[in-house]
Amino acid sequence: MEIAPRVWWVGAVRPAETFQCHAYLVEAGDQSVLIDPGSTEVIDDVLDKVREIIPLEHIRWIVCHHSDPDIAAGLPLLRARLQRPDIELVTEWRAQTLLHHYNAGFPYYLVEDHDWQLPLDGGRALRFVLTPYLHFPGAMCSWDSGTGVLFSSDIFGGFTDGSELFASDASYFEALRPFHEHYMPSREILGAGLARLRRSFQPITMIAPQHGCVIPEPLVDEMFDRLAELECGIFLIAREDLDVARLLRVSNAVRRMTEALVLAHNLPELASIAQRVLPDVLPIESIEVFADTPKEGVLRFAGDDGFLGSPAEMPVESATSLVLAVGGEGPPASVHIILTEPTEISQEMGEMFFRLAPALRVALNRHLEQRDMEHEQLELRESATHDALTGLLNRHALTQFARAEARFGVLMVDIDHFKRVNDDFGHQAGDRVLHEVATACSRTVRTSDLVFRYGGEEMLALVVNSDRAHTVAAAERIREAVAGLRFPDIPGLDTVTVSVGVAMHHPGQPVSEAIGDADRSLYNAKQHGRNRVHAAWDS
Ligand code: GH3
Ligand code: MG
Ligand code: MG
Repeated sequence: MEIAPRVWWVGAVRPAETFQCHAYLVEAGDQSVLIDPGSTEVIDDVLDKVREIIPLEHIRWIVCHHSDPDIAAGLPLLRARLQRPDIELVTEWRAQTLLHHYNAGFPYYLVEDHDWQLPLDGGRALRFVLTPYLHFPGAMCSWDSGTGVLFSSDIFGGFTDGSELFASDASYFEALRPFHEHYMPSREILGAGLARLRRSFQPITMIAPQHGCVIPEPLVDEMFDRLAELECGIFLIAREDLDVARLLRVSNAVRRMTEALVLAHNLPELASIAQRVLPDVLPIESIEVFADTPKEGVLRFAGDDGFLGSPAEMPVESATSLVLAVGGEGPPASVHIILTEPTEISQEMGEMFFRLAPALRVALNRHLEQRDMEHEQLELRESATHDALTGLLNRHALTQFARAEARFGVLMVDIDHFKRVNDDFGHQAGDRVLHEVATACSRTVRTSDLVFRYGGEEMLALVVNSDRAHTVAAAERIREAVAGLRFPDIPGLDTVTVSVGVAMHHPGQPVSEAIGDADRSLYNAKQHGRNRVHAAWDS
């Protein structure tokens, strides 16, 4: 049957077989080509078909795409039937070494020695491409430049009953599927071969495989695309062989984790990818990372606290958890994998973690550095607004926080006879007292109130949303709290007291004015004997 101009199907249908083997004839005068002639079973049928088209003496070339018996077992018979002395066997060296064993005595035309082509008449040529391991190591396909027919050998082979020579619609893919699952080594290798065919041969107007149906042009692209996605070979075995399945899952997990490590910018991203990928190979509940940092000791990083790092102890392995040391330069670190059930760790899994460790180390170090930087920035911001000795807001922050449109009470707090504390107990003791008094002030007011170190031993408190009575009460509480302080580590110092000047800030009034009022009240409190509260409206 002529399937394309001067291209003939010359196969022999074997009824009740799902595995049909096709031979093809490319008619080229007395230089005609017989493609994949077949086994002893079919060779005479094939030659009968050829004879209907051309005299047998016109066969000059015999293409063997590989060396399987369904292609080549009939070669000795063929040698006997075809008496032409210059016939050559067109193949590739890997197939040649095996074809040899059929002892047919044909000389060889090795395609690699002829620029991967066989010139025919009128500028037409058969061109060849290697499709390694599909399914023979040296498997090749050929393509007729005159018609665009691809002789794909085992690729695009299908299991059919042989009643139809042409595939009629896309459902034909279901015939390709089991054939490729069983005969092709893997999706990756098949995909590479298919890509190479498409790259090398343009256009492909028809696919003439050795098995199954001839694929006409309208179905060519779709069959290429769907075949490229098909899991086959080793994956098929993997479904049955648990060891292979496990190996594949582990290597798959390694590949995805390695990709993730390259892409992930930080520890949280990495952990979330790990939590997605690792369940394929381990019953994972959660993952934590521990690092023994020089500044803060052991820190635990995990999703539950946003990977901020909280103080912890290094983890200990148990029946349901793994501790994996993260090697490399940087603080000692380990990954703690908490499992949902006791699980034995295979050697491959151990190797997987070993291979992932360097990249994890990079991510961890990056995380720690970034964390340090953020902390420093935070400290800088703090120091811009806070006083180092007392921890109170500083005077600079006053302009930032005191809002003129708000209503608040103003307390000016000054330590009584503080000079004497310094003189009698030393400046360091003075500093400690100042710190204690400042702390007492900020502890006594509400957290929404603001306490500033206004001068040397002067503190300013803004009591928000307050009236006169509440402001005076706040001042009184501060005075009492300070008077209640004791200083056991400064022998001889019994108590310290403060005087407090009170004023009100009215909405719209300049803040400095209210502070001035409080300052004057403070002076009054001092005048009236210290350790007391004086309000602006009382004088
Ligand atoms: P008064 O009751 O009138 O307020 O008497 P006083 O001694 O507290 O007042 P004065 O203003 O005469 O002295 C304030 C002292 O506070 C002088 C200064 O050395 C001391 N001082 C200011 N800032 C600090 C500080 O940061 N640390 C220490 N130790 N002393 C400070
Ligand atoms: Mg003072
Ligand atoms: Mg003073």
